[in-house]
Amino acid sequence: MPDDKSQQTENLHHPMEEYLRMDRMPHIWCSSCGLGSILTAFMKGVKQADVDFNKVAVVSGIGCTGRVAGYVKLDSYHTTHGRAIPFATGLKLANRDLTVFVISGDGDLFAIGGNHLIHAARRNVDINVICVNNFIYGMTGGQNAPTTPLEAYSSTAPYGNYEQPFNLVGVAAAAGASYVARWSALHMRRLAESVEEMTKKKGFCFLEVISPCATVFARKNKGGTGLDLLKGYKDRSVINHNANPQEIPLDMNGEIVCGVFINKDRPTFWENVLSGTERKVKKTNLYYHDSKTKF
Ligand code: SF4
Ligand code: MG
Repeated sequence: MPDDKSQQTENLHHPMEEYLRMDRMPHIWCSSCGLGSILTAFMKGVKQADVDFNKVAVVSGIGCTGRVAGYVKLDSYHTTHGRAIPFATGLKLANRDLTVFVISGDGDLFAIGGNHLIHAARRNVDINVICVNNFIYGMTGGQNAPTTPLEAYSSTAPYGNYEQPFNLVGVAAAAGASYVARWSALHMRRLAESVEEMTKKKGFCFLEVISPCATVFARKNKGGTGLDLLKGYKDRSVINHNANPQEIPLDMNGEIVCGVFINKDRPTFWENVLSGTERKVKKTNLYYHDSKTKF
């Protein structure tokens, strides 16, 4: 152990260094934002799944959560607003050995990218989507998002929000997702377990993570610090794996029902492509160049 204090400081390493692009530090996230914990849980979950890190890719859209793509030490893509899912779909179809994660915010995935999300779930594209829901557009200035609770304040709802929000797990389940879960940023172990399950599972997997936005959501709604918000989310959380995702919308003060609500198997988009092509080839007797159905 060196005697010199400065030398000791130099030798200190952050436990996540192995998984982060340290040349990008310090990160841009505000103090007490939930995104740092979520990133830690994500990397833990991928590690627990015991997959080759060289075969894991992360795709993000725009926003505070979108910065994840810049910080993880994995192949990653920071795409345009709302277009992370089509990008991830192309990536997976072009290289089916990859495990592809989309990590993005509620505004990016359910407003601008909403149509992409429901159709990827409908097709059961084999990708994993993690939506960090902080109930507002964070980076762009605190505007109303499709998740902003009724009566909550935002920069575009100075008298309180008049719009009914989306129930994200309900939308993903209704569109056909194979795996649907919800946790808060404080459920670190559960989050990592869900990431591990999603890594191993075939088909469209969806995970909503409730996360505090200290800077805009808390400030507009007099929620205190990010830590105060997070404590409130923890106190309101109830774990019920048997809950019907359609019946657990979120509001300003009610229960936050968490759990793994759906974990089922159905043919993926690519499996349907293969079986459909095989049927067609047999029917038409066309030349089919690879009997192992890999083309
Ligand atoms: Fe996090 Fe909100 Fe700050 Fe964005 S604006 S980094 S979501 S606390
Ligand atoms: Mg958001």
